[in-house]
Amino acid sequence: MDLNDFKETTAVENKKADIPTFTPPEGKKVGKSIPTFTPPSTSSLDPACYYHPEERSVGHCVRCGKNLCRYCCDSFGVTGGEYAGKMLCYDCTKKLVADNVQQLQKNYDYIHNQYMMCLAGCVIGAVIGFLWGLSSGIGSALVYMVLCAAIGGSASNFFRRFIGAVPGFFVSTGNWVVSLCIGLFKFVACFFIYAIMALFETARKIIYFRSYMSQTASCIETDSSALQCIEDRMEYSRVMQNNKGMDLADLMKEGSELYNNSYARMVQEQGEDKAEAFVSKCTTQIAENGEIIRSFAA
Ligand SMILES: [Zn+2]
Ligand SMILES: [Zn+2]
Repeated sequence: MDLNDFKETTAVENKKADIPTFTPPEGKKVGKSIPTFTPPSTSSLDPACYYHPEERSVGHCVRCGKNLCRYCCDSFGVTGGEYAGKMLCYDCTKKLVADNVQQLQKNYDYIHNQYMMCLAGCVIGAVIGFLWGLSSGIGSALVYMVLCAAIGGSASNFFRRFIGAVPGFFVSTGNWVVSLCIGLFKFVACFFIYAIMALFETARKIIYFRSYMSQTASCIETDSSALQCIEDRMEYSRVMQNNKGMDLADLMKEGSELYNNSYARMVQEQGEDKAEAFVSKCTTQIAENGEIIRSFAA
């Protein structure tokens, strides 16, 4: 061993001596308990996101309990309606839309039937009224047509009122001619008063049915477009996970996976934050629609 070799060996040994060593405290000897670290319970929070297995979960769906990562929580956090401040997963949001649409369709069908019955009543009433009034000229034919159409549209209310008034037509004054005249006057007055009431009722019913049908149709439309946006976002996150490091613009080229993806387009045009905020708004919209739909009195 020459001098250089010796120097090197000493240096290595000195280095070894420099490395600090850790001796764990011996709790039993000093009579203190060693603090221990207990990992957070994983029973309700599995580390992996259900939709993004590479991501750690930070919360779970309030409806089905699926684990959700930060990315999912940002998008499926609901800011209004019955789930305000909570999170819904992709599947539950989809299920909510399906429930909403099913309920809406049921309400729509019911209202549509009522509407058709009302219109049929109006048509039948109009024909009867026209024929009835025709003997007194075209003017009265038109008046009777409108009044009877209105009666036909609200037939049940009209006849309920009219039948209720019938006992009042029979008056006793001691003079049968006077009694008959008063009875006839009451009969005609009731007919016109109730017909005019029916006119307002039928108009109100038609306006209500039509606005209800257009509301349900627009609810179905907003729910469907909100769902499309959420679906596009799920697809976007899947493609981005599988193509880490790739440029979004490349993934959106014609024929590429995100070519027709509305969410990817939104990210490109408005940035990720705005796109995420929009998806969150869509989820909230769906939850709120669900609440409105369930409170609709069909
Ligand atoms: Zn869920
Ligand atoms: Zn996720």
